[in-house]
Amino acid sequence: MAVDKTAAGAVFLSAGLSRRNTGEMSDPVMCGLCSDDDFKMRALIVEDEKRLARNIARALEEATSFAVDISTDGEDGLYMALSNPYDLIVLDLMLPKVKGLEILQNLRCKGQRTPVLILTACDTTNDIIQGLDSGGDDYLTKPFETGELIARCKALVRRSYDRPDPVISIGELSVDTVGHVVTFRGKQVVLPAMEYRLLEYLALRAGEIVSAGFHTACGDNRHYIYRGLY
Ligand code: CA
Repeated sequence: MAVDKTAAGAVFLSAGLSRRNTGEMSDPVMCGLCSDDDFKMRALIVEDEKRLARNIARALEEATSFAVDISTDGEDGLYMALSNPYDLIVLDLMLPKVKGLEILQNLRCKGQRTPVLILTACDTTNDIIQGLDSGGDDYLTKPFETGELIARCKALVRRSYDRPDPVISIGELSVDTVGHVVTFRGKQVVLPAMEYRLLEYLALRAGEIVSAGFHTACGDNRHYIYRGLY
């Protein structure tokens, strides 16, 4: 299906995306000043089985709008989790250097609220209770079906943004985050991938002030503040 750029622009402008800035600038989406990764959710996979970690990362990247980092030991995983604003962490328990439960307890002690899905071969009822009681938000045992992992990851992120319904409705706009279908004023609008990601990014944060760091992408020191959809 051809992309209707006029309709795409209307979705962003009419649905309430607005901006304040201190300089002249055309639409950053249309003029290409922003990188694709600026509008992706960020996930961290802490998993010492490297092939499995790569497979999970690939599945998340293909099925969702996630940009994925991988850590293959607990020490590095804890550092990464504390240093970056992730939207989701997929955490193995049996890890070199620092065990998964210790990572989890450390994150929660420091007030970190990032949703954590525990993905592990530890499959007894006591393991599950301990994982959830330590601050895990969900628990999946190996072996697992990739589709189930992806669905659980997406559900965790939606809940963390207080959007349990996969279809986000804001006025006349609706964004189906599972089918990646955008409907505006009753008509389906086909958006290029990057614009869809921007729209989903803003829709999840509806009503919030979103600072996207566009000044860095622009290569100058102007500061741009974008408001979420309202
Ligand atoms: Ca392991």
